[in-house]
Amino acid sequence: MLETLSERLQATFGRLGSRGRITEDDLDTALREVRIALLEADVNFRVVRDFVAHVRERTSGAELLQSITPGQQVIGAVNDELVELLGGGNEPLLRAQRGPTKILICGVQGSGKTTLAARLALHLQKDGLQPLLVATDFQRAAASEQLRVLGEQIGVPVYAEETEAPAPEIGKRALAEAKRRGASAVVVDTRGAVALDDEFADELTDLADEIDPTEVLIVVDAMTGQEAVTLARDFDDAVEGTGIVVTKVDSDTRGGAVLSVRQVTGLPIKFLTTGERLEALEAFHPDRFASRILGMGDVVSLVEKAKETIGERDAKEVARRMQRGEFDLEDFLTQLQQMQQMGPISGLLDMLPGAGQMKQQLAIPDVGEDFWKHNEAIILSMTPSERRHPEIIDGSRRRRIAAGSGKQPADVNRLLNQYREAKKLMVAMTSGKGAGGLGRLLGL
Ligand code: GDP
Ligand code: MG
Repeated sequence: MLETLSERLQATFGRLGSRGRITEDDLDTALREVRIALLEADVNFRVVRDFVAHVRERTSGAELLQSITPGQQVIGAVNDELVELLGGGNEPLLRAQRGPTKILICGVQGSGKTTLAARLALHLQKDGLQPLLVATDFQRAAASEQLRVLGEQIGVPVYAEETEAPAPEIGKRALAEAKRRGASAVVVDTRGAVALDDEFADELTDLADEIDPTEVLIVVDAMTGQEAVTLARDFDDAVEGTGIVVTKVDSDTRGGAVLSVRQVTGLPIKFLTTGERLEALEAFHPDRFASRILGMGDVVSLVEKAKETIGERDAKEVARRMQRGEFDLEDFLTQLQQMQQMGPISGLLDMLPGAGQMKQQLAIPDVGEDFWKHNEAIILSMTPSERRHPEIIDGSRRRRIAAGSGKQPADVNRLLNQYREAKKLMVAMTSGKGAGGLGRLLGL
């Protein structure tokens, strides 16, 4: 995500961080590099100007220059300012107090509205709501068909009409249908336009009046940069948005739109989307996003993603599987997560009699929190089939997994070795002879 910007900022901070002391000149150079990196990422120039000024305010003064870790302090200031720029905190999707939650999706053609409608419907469905998708787009012949196909894929009903009618009228009939079905959420997709002219603005306003939406989400395509941000502002002026969704935030996007849109429109970014998978809808958290850009990792989001994708095997199931001699990387991940909750493994072993010796034989290092997080990140970068069948992980998969988790292929190897050791241990421990099995393994 925003790889180029991220690399440039990290290079700047790398140079800064390696110094014991920094001078005003060093700081000037670093801030100049930050400014150029942001401009090249296509961030709005006013936003960049204010950003750099604020970072300078946060870091200026003799205090910084005499600080023991001035580089860290500058990075901290940039991080804080990024979080601020992105809106401070997460703003969740609004829910209607009474009646169904109604979401109106608007934005330019091709920005990803229809895909987002389906993604939101899936998200709401997972949250226990009963959504209805509504097609109002007659501009493109296949538009309502596209929504129908997506709806079918996720098992959400779609309201669409056969003959062309004005969007506000369709909206009215769709609400009646939602009521008849007892839907608790209504997601309304709209037609796109290349730009926002008066006629289109009027149509959207009328549709919004008819629907009385809980949320008006304006879709911004991250691939289009500055232009998308200006258009988002126009849409907001026309329909009074309540939030922004930035789509196509794939790894090669420059990032300008994501970084500018909050400041330029004043609207909170609520979600980001990536790729084509309908599950790829991510609640936007400014602090996590800033950490990602600055290369500090985003373990919280990774873990949340894991819980969704893996669906947490519980401890009992893991135990049953182990008794059958089954122990794959998903089980290993569950264990890592449980260990994290329980504290360092060496602390656990210390509680067992005679464990000191065992610890030495097993060569278990005193590992901190980072150890678990790194391993967790690696496993989360694998596909489900890799987690279930680790033996298929070859050189090219290893490289992909390493890149996905910000690690080296050697780290992936190390993890796989640890997994194999753990598997041996698990199988020995649960081979019906309990601790005896473990003892044999350890040669005690
Ligand atoms: P609409 O015209 O605004 O309704 O846009 P669509 O939802 O039809 O999407 C236009 C194209 O962008 C389609 O090919 C989508 O698959 C693609 N698309 C939508 N969201 C994303 C995303 O988050 N990332 C990527 N890479 N492509 C997307
Ligand atoms: Mg569409």
